[in-house]
Amino acid sequence: MVECNFCGGEAVFLRPYSGEKLCKRCFMKSIENRVQQSISKQNMFKPDDKISLALSGGKDSVSLLHILSKIEGRFPKTKLVAVTIDEGILGYREEAIRIAEENCGRLGVEHNIFSFKELFGSNLDEIIKAAEKLESELSFCSYCGVLRRRALNIAARKVEATKLAMAHNLDDEVQSMLMNLLRGDISRASRKEPAIIESEPAFIQRVKPLCEVLEREVAFYAFLKRIKFQTILCPYLESSIRQDVRLFLNQMEGKHNGMKFAVYRTFKKLQQRLDSFDNKDQFRFCEVCGEPTTGRVCRVCQLLEELRLNNKE
Ligand code: SF4
Ligand SMILES: [Zn+2]
Ligand SMILES: [Zn+2]
Repeated sequence: MVECNFCGGEAVFLRPYSGEKLCKRCFMKSIENRVQQSISKQNMFKPDDKISLALSGGKDSVSLLHILSKIEGRFPKTKLVAVTIDEGILGYREEAIRIAEENCGRLGVEHNIFSFKELFGSNLDEIIKAAEKLESELSFCSYCGVLRRRALNIAARKVEATKLAMAHNLDDEVQSMLMNLLRGDISRASRKEPAIIESEPAFIQRVKPLCEVLEREVAFYAFLKRIKFQTILCPYLESSIRQDVRLFLNQMEGKHNGMKFAVYRTFKKLQQRLDSFDNKDQFRFCEVCGEPTTGRVCRVCQLLEELRLNNKE
């Protein structure tokens, strides 16, 4: 039997980048501690925050729901609510919503559902049909991502949350950092997280408590905790730069332990330095829908207008 470095119990997980061997209990504790440390280090929450968790039903968001609900128990003035965005993907999103509901019910967390249809007048299936007709060069995920970000902000406002918790793990973060670099998007690459816009109540501050936990460790946490999450893939998932970057990073991590953490830390340091001269996007309000944006007309309105679906606003 291989022994756990911390309690001498039976080890079930080896951390290649640190050499630690952990038993089931110590592994789960280590993930919860890592999340707690990220929250404290980055001052993500105040004791009286109302936290809206973006709950998709996938392993990351459902694991974060369980971890935050545990942490919430220690802070009587903090309130956790979950928000699921129903993009309207027939045969896919229904299961995710059911799983999200079940987990919230088990933990006694209030669950709210908002749909693209009610917020934008069209669901994703309709948007994708219109995009195909237009022979748009944008990927399906680009439409979905832009609209979901907006939907989550509106939803957080509607449930009167003061913070919006996203379940992006370390892999997601490093992928985004490299993608911004590959696209030459210096503005995004240098944007510090969490984006704090204290003076703009229409824009709910986003925090990412899983930002220092590897994807495979979130998956193992969910497995050990017997957490139910959605495993089928979205039918619109297609090959993208993100998939290529993901594959590349996984190959590099397989050969060089700790590489993802190294990239993450390097970018964080760069962001600190670049922040002083290139992180000054001024927020204003979209002339069409009135939502906070950096341009005259927001990206959501631009996309819906291109697709001739902008009948809601
Ligand atoms: S895979 Fe793409 S289209 Fe599907 S839910 Fe995710 S972002 Fe949306
Ligand atoms: Zn142990
Ligand atoms: Zn707009």
